Amino acid sequence: MDYTLAPDLVALRAEAVEVAEAAVAGREVKEDSWLVGNDAEFARELGRRGWLGMTWPKEHGGHGRTKLERFVVFEALISHGAPLASAWFADRQIGPTLLQYGSDEQRRAHLPGLVSGEVMWSIGMSEPDAGSDVASIRTRAVADGDSFVVEGQKIWTSGAAQSDYCYLIARTDPDARPHAGLSEFIVDMRSPGIEVRPIVDMTGNQHFCEVHLNEVRVPAANLVGTPNGSFSQVMRQMEHERGGIDRLVSNRALYDDALLEADRSDPLVRQEVAALETMYRIVRIMVLREVLEQAPAGWSAATKTLGTEFEQRVASFCGRVAGPRATLWNRVSRNICYAPGYTIMGGTTQVLRNIIGERVLGLPREPRGA
Ligand SMILES: Cc1cc2nc3c(=O)[nH]c(=O)nc-3n(C[C@H](O)[C@H](O)[C@H](O)COP(=O)(O)OP(=O)(O)OC[C@H]3O[C@@H](n4cnc5c(N)ncnc54)[C@H](O)[C@@H]3O)c2cc1C
Repeated sequence: MDYTLAPDLVALRAEAVEVAEAAVAGREVKEDSWLVGNDAEFARELGRRGWLGMTWPKEHGGHGRTKLERFVVFEALISHGAPLASAWFADRQIGPTLLQYGSDEQRRAHLPGLVSGEVMWSIGMSEPDAGSDVASIRTRAVADGDSFVVEGQKIWTSGAAQSDYCYLIARTDPDARPHAGLSEFIVDMRSPGIEVRPIVDMTGNQHFCEVHLNEVRVPAANLVGTPNGSFSQVMRQMEHERGGIDRLVSNRALYDDALLEADRSDPLVRQEVAALETMYRIVRIMVLREVLEQAPAGWSAATKTLGTEFEQRVASFCGRVAGPRATLWNRVSRNICYAPGYTIMGGTTQVLRNIIGERVLGLPREPRGA
């Protein structure tokens, strides 16, 4: 079933497609442009158009528009490979987190820069020994007068080298149970003691980084939400991160190109296109349920799992269409190399399947040590 958008949304989508096409014209399009396509000027353009903080309340500097309007704009931008990365984390999860958990002062200080697209954020959650298991985070923040002193290391921090602020999770109570002693901080990336080392991935991207924090002073006023209460806040933030359209259409532009080339008289190609189109429509409906807040709690784990498995299937379909060309270095082969990351970032598929089983479906947990 296809849903029809109202005429104003159709017009908004056409405008967003035009903006995206202008942004990618004459440049190399990178799949996953919301993560690797850094372009500070494009972020400011989104801000000028009122496309950042679209759904946030007007009293907080947002534009008070509907969630469907935001969906339409970003579906169009990401599907066409527009370079969103300088603004995306801020719009997708930092703003909503500050709106929900931030202090008035934090909202006043940070939301305007998010809405204008002038300030870039990164997310410092994962560590070398704490990826899926967030509760193992070892970076420490120790209270000292009116600040915290932060010591530790983050890894895979996307956009850290360009970001102005990092939303950092650190252990504030070493004696509490692992899940209970974590807090969240706004960290100014220009603070003394921060060293960022970009990591080159196998496709040549350098978007994610190691972030080393050596006695970094963070004002106590930058603690977001409840001290030692990060775990439930982070779970909420993951809901923003997992259920969106970015998990479905990040290599859509590549797919659209491959479709023009594919031999559609070949029954195997036709069968694969039918399977992909079906899967695409199902996940799009799942994303829309998230957008309209109609999905059950925790369901974004399922949306992200199916969406990213779809993107991996798209990557291999494009490879099969390209044939021997896929063994050379080009967009298709780069996406094949990049695609395993889809089901790792934002929570691995295995971990998300555990969440679906245990928290959404209520299946019994495997006893420890079994
Ligand atoms: C492109 C990309 C961008 C990223 N950007 C960021 C970022 O900006 N900020 C940030 O903080 N992090 C970022 N990450 C890190 C990402 O969140 C972690 O890689 C992810 O959570 C997995 O953690 P890990 O790599 O430590 O793997 P591990 O947690 O060590 O997992 C290794 C393997 O074990 C499996 N596994 C682990 N636990 C279980 C379990 N309980 N049950 C079953 N299987 C399990 C996993 O599925 C995986 O296959 C990014 C990662 C990628 C690939």
